[in-house]
Amino acid sequence: MNAPLADADLAAGRLLMAKLEAFAAFTDEPRRLTRLFLSQAHRRAALAFIAWCGEAGLQAKIDAAGNVVARYEGKRAGAPALMLGSHIDTVRDAGLYDGNYGALAALAVVEALSARAERLDHAIEIVAFGDEEGVRFRTTLTGSLALAGNYPEDALDQRDASGVSMREALIEFGGDPEHALLLRRKGVAAFVEAHIEQGPRLEAEGLPLGVVTAINGATRLEVGVDGVAGHAGATPMSLRRDALTAAAEMTLAIEERARREPDLVATVGRLEAWPGATNVIPGHVQFSIDIRAPADANRARAIADIEARISAIATARRVSASLVKTHEANAFACDPGIIAGLAKAVEAVGVSSRLLPSGAGHDTMAMGKLCPAGMLFVRCKGGVSHNPLESITVEDCAIGLKALIRFARDFRAS
Ligand SMILES: [Zn+2]
Repeated sequence: MNAPLADADLAAGRLLMAKLEAFAAFTDEPRRLTRLFLSQAHRRAALAFIAWCGEAGLQAKIDAAGNVVARYEGKRAGAPALMLGSHIDTVRDAGLYDGNYGALAALAVVEALSARAERLDHAIEIVAFGDEEGVRFRTTLTGSLALAGNYPEDALDQRDASGVSMREALIEFGGDPEHALLLRRKGVAAFVEAHIEQGPRLEAEGLPLGVVTAINGATRLEVGVDGVAGHAGATPMSLRRDALTAAAEMTLAIEERARREPDLVATVGRLEAWPGATNVIPGHVQFSIDIRAPADANRARAIADIEARISAIATARRVSASLVKTHEANAFACDPGIIAGLAKAVEAVGVSSRLLPSGAGHDTMAMGKLCPAGMLFVRCKGGVSHNPLESITVEDCAIGLKALIRFARDFRAS
């Protein structure tokens, strides 16, 4: 379904697309987009963002944690703010839209208001976070964690591959390490992040926009299967204790369990067999499981089921299996008021509002500890992200912006 877009909406979408393309010039590597946290390219991108804010009449600055922040006052100075934004750091060889869309769309919302000298009952704050992808340092979300008052103290001592500490890089960038710990914001009534979907659902359903209900929680497990290695020629099938065929059956059982539940996903992404020879029955296998779901209880039930299946398969095949949990992060539920407001805004611009969870993590999770928070997804081609093939249409770009402007106008700070 595609809503009719007015010429002015399309023009705003084209302008935003042009900015996203121009923004890709700020890269650490020639001929591809790589903009790592606190790098030279990140600094140049931040300065360009500040200059664009200036053109819209905003005084933007780099804050202590390396975010670019700006404020568009409401009718009354000092009113509570609706904060809009996303991240401007990227993975290596990135696409143009992951993060950058939400940061530049936030600026475009203010440009639209400012062009008509329109002031709202609340202020609009723009934020361009810097540390979402977690490529350079072993940190992630430090920008949004800082605004929420949860800056991880050990982050500053992390070093990149060349031995530069985050503290040093932050000073060079124009941040202020000591004050990053004290950045907790007051007066933020809500946070909304627009972002490309990074999944194929909206495209499959022919919808340009989605409203995020939750950011999936995730558990990672490491499974070890012990059988008995033996001669591939001399051991009859009936006497084998093959660790790899057991692991294969376990992998299928994991897939089968995940398929039974909508919105739950489970992946065996790595599997290694020992001794790894053509003529030897595998005696040991090690594999990973990654399970994600929008509700923690559902994820916990799936893990319990999968553990039981693995144990039953191991018994039946006379091998032993051990499971170790290597990572666990709870789901983040988006604020019901923000979900309702975004759904209303999406419908107001003429498209049906699809509610869906996010499979990937986002700054919104960190901001949700500070204030009501939520996300608007924009359809992307093939669900592809973290890849130069990342693509959105001008129309979707425009309709996402239109919905965000509508949301900003209708928003009421409680
Ligand atoms: Zn992103």
